[in-house]
Amino acid sequence: MLDRKFILQNADLVAKNAARRGVEVDVESICTLEAQRLEALQQSQEFNRLANEISKQIPKAADNEARQAMIAEGRQLREKKDEAANLQDELEAKIVELQTVLPNMTHPDVPDGGEEDANELGFGKTPKPAMDFKPLDHLELGEKHDLFDFEGGARVAGSGFYFLRNAAVRLDLALQLFAISFLSDRGFTPVATPDLALTSVLQGTGFNPRGPETQIYSIENTELNLVATAEITLGGMLSGQTLDLESLPIKLCGLSHCFRTEAGAAGRASRGLYRVHQFTKVEMFAFASPDQSDALHEEMRGLECELFDALEVPYRVIDTAAGDLGGPAYRKYDLEAWMPGRGEAGEWGEVTSTSNCTDYQARRLDVRYKTPGQKGTQYVHTLNGTAVATGRAMIAILENHQRADGSIAVPKVLQPWVGQESLTPQP
Ligand code: AMP
Repeated sequence: MLDRKFILQNADLVAKNAARRGVEVDVESICTLEAQRLEALQQSQEFNRLANEISKQIPKAADNEARQAMIAEGRQLREKKDEAANLQDELEAKIVELQTVLPNMTHPDVPDGGEEDANELGFGKTPKPAMDFKPLDHLELGEKHDLFDFEGGARVAGSGFYFLRNAAVRLDLALQLFAISFLSDRGFTPVATPDLALTSVLQGTGFNPRGPETQIYSIENTELNLVATAEITLGGMLSGQTLDLESLPIKLCGLSHCFRTEAGAAGRASRGLYRVHQFTKVEMFAFASPDQSDALHEEMRGLECELFDALEVPYRVIDTAAGDLGGPAYRKYDLEAWMPGRGEAGEWGEVTSTSNCTDYQARRLDVRYKTPGQKGTQYVHTLNGTAVATGRAMIAILENHQRADGSIAVPKVLQPWVGQESLTPQP
């Protein structure tokens, strides 16, 4: 959520930024509603002051008739005070509703436009594989190696759910263990997070658990929701806390399942593991001071590159355009892996995403820091980044590492956990 004072003082800038990011909000009406709210607040304070004054006069009333008149006037003033206070609350709720729709401000280097307009920043160390055979897609490979059971998943939980089988189970766990140990060695504290979170925590991190376009599964008659990413639980972990400046940055890597309704997504590009309702992810998350966050964002992008270089997967790095940033991100980099089995001649598919959310999430989650020797507190900056989302990482590994004889090479860094150098087709 943006700072209200900032919105009021920069209404034009905020409106232009929202429009550039494809969000329609009437910023002028926030200013009007805020003026009305302040007036209601002043009125309620004034009625309260008058009612208190009358209360003080009651013992000094000349006679009973005067006393009764004063009591009646006091009662009327308190009713008016309550009305003004209620109006103030209603206006406050309307303002917060509009305020939360406004996206974060945008880093000056972010390109204009939508999905097609991202800047390509560079490529990973692994070249696209030279294949002198027609590559199979991960579903065909999965069939040969008996790795997935989508029919069984659909019988249990509906389409978009699946069972992993045989080597896919070990690959999935190997990816988690590799990412966690890689990040632990680089100063990130590993945490296994709850898979459920309160509605207020989702809202604080900028996710909308209600409404027709929600991607969130909510548990009926409770305030609980299945998390779409550990970004939600890790952000919520320190909600309401004031941290010491010296403790920043706090770097975490969280392991969670992720649940998404994926309303409206379909088609070949979404086949198989690419867009499912449940997957497992190791997520980087950091609480930082404002002057640390840009550098930390670059660090997270660098770590994602190192991880996918180590997995020997070809990828490109993109700087996401303004219209594709979502609400909380100030800037977002994606890694897109080469997936030779996708489309006719292969395609890039997003495997990671890292965002600097500045103080947008911290304001609503109320996570602050204190500078020694200074009065008051400031909101921290929050950052998140995918280390490994196991489903899509598995697609990239299977499709890029397949060989003409049908076997699939296991990346060296995963071999200790998978226990094999390559997967051979099931007889
Ligand atoms: P996000 O939290 O939306 O930025 O997604 C982080 C990463 O999770 C993406 O880069 C993908 O690798 C993966 N991912 C997102 N949505 C899905 C999905 N529905 N199915 C499988 N993987 C997904």
